Amino acid sequence: MTRKLFVTTALPYANAPFHLGHMLEYIQADIWVRFQRMQGNTVHFVCADDAHGAAIMIAAEKAGLTPQAFVAQIAAGRRQYLDGFHIGFDNWHSTDAAENHELAQTIYRALRKQGLIAERTIEQFYDPVKGMFLPDRYVIGECPKCGSKDQYGDNCDVCGSVYAPTDLKHPKSTLTGATPVMKSSEHYFFQLSSQRCIDFLKAWTTTPGRLQPEVLNKIKEWFATDELGHVGLNDWDISRDAPYFGIEIPDAPGKYFYVWLDAPVGYLASLKNLLDRQGEDFEAFMADPAVEQIHFIGKDIITFHTLFWPAMLHFSGTTSAAGDYLPRKVPSHIFVHGFLQLSGEKMSKSRGTGISPLKYLELGLDAEWIRYYIAAKLSAKVEDIDFNPDDFLARVNSDLVGKYINIASRAAGFLSKRFGGVLSADVGVEGRMLLDGLRAHGNAIETLYEEREFAKALREIMLLADRVNAYVDQHKPWELAKAAGQEAVLHDVCSVCIEAFRLLTIYLKPVLPALAAQVEAFLRIEPLRFTDAQRGLGAHTIGEYQHLMQRVDAKQVDALLEPAQIELPPPGGEAIAAEIKVDDFAKIDLRIAKIVDCARVEGSTKLLRLTLDVGEGKTRNVFSGIQSAYEPADLIGKLTVMVANLAPRKMKFGVSEGMVLAASHGDAGLPKGAEPGLYILEPWPGAEPGMRVR
Ligand SMILES: [Zn+2]
Repeated sequence: MTRKLFVTTALPYANAPFHLGHMLEYIQADIWVRFQRMQGNTVHFVCADDAHGAAIMIAAEKAGLTPQAFVAQIAAGRRQYLDGFHIGFDNWHSTDAAENHELAQTIYRALRKQGLIAERTIEQFYDPVKGMFLPDRYVIGECPKCGSKDQYGDNCDVCGSVYAPTDLKHPKSTLTGATPVMKSSEHYFFQLSSQRCIDFLKAWTTTPGRLQPEVLNKIKEWFATDELGHVGLNDWDISRDAPYFGIEIPDAPGKYFYVWLDAPVGYLASLKNLLDRQGEDFEAFMADPAVEQIHFIGKDIITFHTLFWPAMLHFSGTTSAAGDYLPRKVPSHIFVHGFLQLSGEKMSKSRGTGISPLKYLELGLDAEWIRYYIAAKLSAKVEDIDFNPDDFLARVNSDLVGKYINIASRAAGFLSKRFGGVLSADVGVEGRMLLDGLRAHGNAIETLYEEREFAKALREIMLLADRVNAYVDQHKPWELAKAAGQEAVLHDVCSVCIEAFRLLTIYLKPVLPALAAQVEAFLRIEPLRFTDAQRGLGAHTIGEYQHLMQRVDAKQVDALLEPAQIELPPPGGEAIAAEIKVDDFAKIDLRIAKIVDCARVEGSTKLLRLTLDVGEGKTRNVFSGIQSAYEPADLIGKLTVMVANLAPRKMKFGVSEGMVLAASHGDAGLPKGAEPGLYILEPWPGAEPGMRVR
């Protein structure tokens, strides 16, 4: 029986381009969706930009754009990432689209009809200059616990304490710097604390198979009743006051839905937009009990998807003609994943340790490499996964190329040169045993994909590839090709290799869709499905082998990990000089010199005449342009550093037999209006005239 699946990934906030963490989620969901399609299941796979909220409104204002234009600019950049990493969404929409406005308002009205919306007056910080209520992150002040300055309104970065913005000492609006005032406002609440909601959510969350065990454990904490008998769930504040970029609350002028109310509704809006364009009925589709609704999300947004969202859906249904309540479809599963780390550390854009997905593509790295690598790390657990450059190289080069791709490249040439590309119809007992062994693992691999145990699936597949490589090493087609009378054996061995390669390609196709398409073209076969594993190709004619995949070059990975170039002024106002070798440096003979005498040079405003002792039993005469910085008397008796092997230079005032070293700024490094400073070098105590500096 084929399944009907409605699958989403979390909606990215439309204030910035994608980072690699987004790609992790999209790749995970895309692999699962491709697997389902290869099983013959129907999938609607959609996403959208999360367009609303104070943060986008303020960012747009700073950029001098309307929020709509700001979001459109971000949205226009999405396609190249999705195509670039072979993410096959059926639709990409926006929470600011008409469908979402309508659906969010419909859901709200239905919740109100159910008596689950409450109105309450709350007191909040208000920026009197800007004329708007301030979200927590837009108020800063001194931490009420430790007194640290410039802490946000929700928690302290220094001591970690959590508090309300009204607890801050000397609060300031980050928008205008004004001291915020307390102002009251009517807010709308979704009554999550009502017994109806709690009963529903307890049943929904504990339905076997609905949530991952560690997610369910987390949720049980929220339901827990404390010693005072307080139930863990609070009502949820779903309204915000104008000015706000969002969806207006029906019958409440100047009030908007909090962005987190309409964001998940965007899943439905994107699906509706897709179905409308395909001429399908959205309501009928969602009313079909066979449709499974599945959301892939990160571990940071569990609350919204396991409490607010299912409750919103369940209680926003309709009433049948007979008067029965018909709830909306609720999610069948929420699949939660961990975060992506870089060599064991959290990726951080500000520290330059993030990896830009576009840079990955621009450097010519193959999207299927990182799809394979991420898949090789993913399990059904909520655990962080690590991008480790050495591991990445090893997995792609040793496993993907070394074990899998090589099977085809070792056999295909002989088949086309010696047998016209026609496979052997009967490969003999040993070959059949190998291939049957590979086929026998198909069900286990399918189960692992279904359960999102991608790492285990790939491990299994690579073990099968090991078997095939052992078979190749045992039969050595390159030797059979030279031996007399071994034509038939060579034909069978190469045919076994190609069939084994085809089977492995079926198993890897959810992870490597572009590569699988190339293999299908090379083998001249229809798009592969899992059921194709059960039937061999027989005396089929394959095409000419084309090179399928490169190895990763370590230099590409180094370039990828190079921190983003931050434009710094050159040090000291001067760029660092061209690189030299140590031999070049050794040519310069630097010596400690004692300034035994020093005098102004008659007729020069710049030069001082230095008499230097470099331990040669005689002194040297050196002219130096440091008159502006030093009184001759201050230098007499001091030690400094000189270039002792510089060719003597004839100057207007005499011969200069070397050069003393002095530090100064290049012109560019000089603050406006400042005098150029000159500082001659002086060694630490203990240095003696004549010592070499190296
Ligand atoms: Zn603090």
